[in-house]
Amino acid sequence: MTTLKQPVKYIVITGGVLSGLGKGIASASIGFLLSDRLKIIPIKCDGYLNTDPGTMNPIEHGEVFVLDDGGEVDMDFGHYERFFGVTCKSNWNITMGKIFQSILEKERKGDYLGRTVQYIPHVTDEIKNWIYGIARTEQADLVLVEIGGTVGDMESDLYIEAVRQLRNEVGRENILFIQLTYIPIPSGSMEQKSKPTQQSVKSMNERGLEPDIIIGRCAQLLDEKVKGKISMFCNIEKEAVISGIDVECVYEIPFIYEQEGLSEIIHKKLQIYSPPNCDAWEPLIKRIKRNQAQSAKKVTIAICGKYTALEDSYASIIEALNHCGAQLDLMIEPIWLETTDLETGKISLDQSLHGTHGVIVPGGFGVRGIEGKIAVVQYVRERLVPFLGICYGMQLAVVEFARHVCGLEKAHLREAEAEGVTNIIPVVDLLPSQRKVTRKGASMRLGGHNVIIKPGTRAHDIFGTDCIRRRFRHRYEINPEYVPVLEQHGLVFSGMAESEDIVQILELPGHPFFLGSQFHPELTSKLEEPAPLFFHFIRAAYDYQEKCK
Ligand code: GLN
Repeated sequence: MTTLKQPVKYIVITGGVLSGLGKGIASASIGFLLSDRLKIIPIKCDGYLNTDPGTMNPIEHGEVFVLDDGGEVDMDFGHYERFFGVTCKSNWNITMGKIFQSILEKERKGDYLGRTVQYIPHVTDEIKNWIYGIARTEQADLVLVEIGGTVGDMESDLYIEAVRQLRNEVGRENILFIQLTYIPIPSGSMEQKSKPTQQSVKSMNERGLEPDIIIGRCAQLLDEKVKGKISMFCNIEKEAVISGIDVECVYEIPFIYEQEGLSEIIHKKLQIYSPPNCDAWEPLIKRIKRNQAQSAKKVTIAICGKYTALEDSYASIIEALNHCGAQLDLMIEPIWLETTDLETGKISLDQSLHGTHGVIVPGGFGVRGIEGKIAVVQYVRERLVPFLGICYGMQLAVVEFARHVCGLEKAHLREAEAEGVTNIIPVVDLLPSQRKVTRKGASMRLGGHNVIIKPGTRAHDIFGTDCIRRRFRHRYEINPEYVPVLEQHGLVFSGMAESEDIVQILELPGHPFFLGSQFHPELTSKLEEPAPLFFHFIRAAYDYQEKCK
């Protein structure tokens, strides 16, 4: 028997006043609060003309998040997956690049014959149809549409116009607009100010929309006075003004929204019901908060890379560390080590790694900073400091080992040749499948692949299974020709690709923790279930810290 399904509901989340207020976390938190009984599909609309963020510098745009289906998407998808356990798909990240690409393909095919192709209706129709298509294919109960940028940006105007039209098409009872704004407290006045919010709502009004709910990001809980002002000037009920207070731990945000009555208002306005289920997270969040407040057990982890200037470049790594901290009841302090500074002598290894209990060399590209990273790997290998090498980090661990243990002084990455390094022994080489690749976009070995784990290894102990599935983003691999010599000198290759001869995990027996993975374990780490490689690495770092006392 088929039951009558409710019409699909939509929540559109926009930003006002300024960017960087955490719309991704806000959307993810709403998903967390409502996902108990509803199938929620998140869609992120980005205004840029790149097809996806895969070709952008993470310093500008934050981490490129990789999905199981191989999509390279906005880092907000990391929040969605971590907060409400959804496995996202590549086409849920709409970009203007994708929209125009699709329109231009249709135009060349002749789909618009005889007509002028215009922003309205063609671009807005394309956006709406993209959203409807996902809702239909996924059989969503609720679609969360997050629009990147700030209302008023030229870049997001076509999305705003598309959702304005969407409101009329789906019926006002089926769509809700939430605007995330900023409530400053200027120094001196000590008063929460509503004016920027009022202006940002006016900007929305000019575009034919008004928010149903306003979340005001503020250093404090919003007081009654400011809520009253926002309610009056922005034409919404006072109960629909929600505090989005700054917090240390992002996983707390859904709980704050809940206290402020957000899910109740959403239930009421959209005529849906899904009880928030906070049980799994509550004790973990209590621990994180307690550890932040008191001088708890603490380990210091150095993250060595060249994008350290922007913590967002390593967002998932930081989250994976937070997940381990919550599970192990530890405070984990990440410190950033810019490896180019090691190369120029601006900082020394001893100085920068003093007091560090574990080192992560994360993913990366290009030669800048790699000699510094190789020096870091040698240091931690020789001094028995726990080490986790992720993707590039694992490849560089092989270069270090080949140079200093196997005596292959010229061991290097094939990747370095593109930047003029010559006369190398390529212990890390281009994947055979990459040899014919000429275009840069979406052409790496991407997404989820199975990894077969060798019994009797540390990796097997850690994962407790013969096969795992993890996410990848790379063009190069450990050169199979050098695997025998590396093995003879003690390196163990404990994980291999299922269907190809590609090294996926390596480890060094006899070292307290020296592991590298070609995949990115951080991408699938969850608060309630930390990535096993991170978890065991942090345990080793804690043991090391105890030993150092
Ligand atoms: N640059 C390396 C490669 O393409 C590593 C990539 C990464 O760390 N994600 O294989």
